[in-house]
Amino acid sequence: MKKTKYVFVTGGVTSSLGKGIIAASLAKLLQKRGYSVTIQKLDPYINIDPGTLNPYEHGECFVTDDGAETDLDLGHYERFLNIPTSQANNVTTGRIYQSVINKERRGKFLGKTVQIIPHITDEIKNRIQLLGKTGEFDIVITEIGGTIGDIESLPYVESVRQLLWELGHENAISIHLTLIPYLAAAGELKTKPTQHSVKMLMQSGVSPDILVCRSEHKLNDSIKNKLALFCNVKKEAIIESLDVETIYDVPNLMLEQKLDEVVLNKMKLPMDGTPHLKEWNEFLTKHRNPKNTIEIGLVGKYVELHDAYKSIVESFIHAGAHNEVKVIIRWIHSEKLTEENVPSRLMGLNGILVAPGFGDRGIEGKIDAVKYARENKIPFFGICLGMQMAVIEFSRNVLGLKDVFSIEMKPTAENPVINLMEEQKSVVDKGGTMRLGSWKCVLKEGSKVKEIYGKEIIEERHRHRYEFNNDYLKQIENAGMIATGKNPDTNLVEIIEIPSHPWFVGTQYHPEYKSTVLNPHPLFVSFIKAALEHYLK
Ligand code: GLN
Repeated sequence: MKKTKYVFVTGGVTSSLGKGIIAASLAKLLQKRGYSVTIQKLDPYINIDPGTLNPYEHGECFVTDDGAETDLDLGHYERFLNIPTSQANNVTTGRIYQSVINKERRGKFLGKTVQIIPHITDEIKNRIQLLGKTGEFDIVITEIGGTIGDIESLPYVESVRQLLWELGHENAISIHLTLIPYLAAAGELKTKPTQHSVKMLMQSGVSPDILVCRSEHKLNDSIKNKLALFCNVKKEAIIESLDVETIYDVPNLMLEQKLDEVVLNKMKLPMDGTPHLKEWNEFLTKHRNPKNTIEIGLVGKYVELHDAYKSIVESFIHAGAHNEVKVIIRWIHSEKLTEENVPSRLMGLNGILVAPGFGDRGIEGKIDAVKYARENKIPFFGICLGMQMAVIEFSRNVLGLKDVFSIEMKPTAENPVINLMEEQKSVVDKGGTMRLGSWKCVLKEGSKVKEIYGKEIIEERHRHRYEFNNDYLKQIENAGMIATGKNPDTNLVEIIEIPSHPWFVGTQYHPEYKSTVLNPHPLFVSFIKAALEHYLK
């Protein structure tokens, strides 16, 4: 049983400074020093989870093995640390209030007035310590969403204050991530916003142990002295975080800045040598020195916001480095595709990925894109909704069936080749009720996917309500689209392939959730390899 120590990460001045990446980079360095580390994100919104949020609001919804619908930062944590996260790694204000209110209804606080302090803060503290109590981790890094000064973050900051006090200085520390803007007109870096942010944090009773300063320019000594003086932080604990080309450079950057050493010293934890980032740097070397450049079309309806497809984009980076190619993404708005403009918009692509999604906006554009990839023998990868659209396209254009659709888009379709799952028929609530998380899939002997995975049984993560309608399986297979992966218990079709096509694979699950820097996902690796072959032809 490990005695867990806690690191809290707050953000100041502005949002989007990359708290998640700093937390993940620190965790990576500590992990490489032999510590077992996990990262948790506390989100200050009222939704119970981001599953009910439109991707335009908050980017991709990341799904864990245990079926939690979570913030996209958890994807970064997994991609950096190469270990899975779980429901306990993401908590929202909604979930905190829900459990406190449920307890109140059960009479847990009978006779008492239920208040933000202590009841909400106690619940937050319990959630923070839940991961520590598993005894699995030496260090838990907790990222507080939002920016210091936000009304909705106050209970979190108060809980951090209490925990810092209760656990004691060697067991819990606080890192504040902030921005040092450069005023071009004055030719100067400015510390004032950071001074104010730290002041606000101190007014809540939290004094930062470490400042991580995002900046476009190096912080000179006088800036560091000023920050130290005004913010009560030791000079060596002022870490500069300059803009870098890729997020995967940040661990090296933090290593140079000795963030890990400062953290370990503050918590009186032993450290020997330097952490070796050998495999990590091998990945970076390949990423920086591609031998070829290929272009993949990503067809989706949220393409204006690239974060909506975060894990897919990162999976391309991992698989690209593995194949020593640079992957350029052509963002294709499915709503803007028509049968007529598909050839011009998709021309020159070496691979086409039709993305996951919900609802009927832009759906015909996705189907047209599948048709183009199938007919022109361009490597095709369909994920979740993308796989379902591949089945529809095939049934319409190869089988020649009339009025083919998914029940999701057309409940009265004569040929519903994609059907609502049986267990979904009684579901009324929208939140957390899809088929979620990790499920087994058995791969067919002799199939492309079996060869790619190199094993018979795989486990992949899901997030869907609709499924391949097995009433059509025979006809579809006879016409040349084969179900090469199935759930062993329910026969649910998890994968379809067209063996006569150079690379045509659709998966009901989301392989992108499991691709990491050190373990690029085999399907993405194979897809990029096929796209490279297409390019070299
Ligand atoms: N909307 C489809 C379903 O619910 C696909 C979901 C997805 O792409 N994640 O089955």
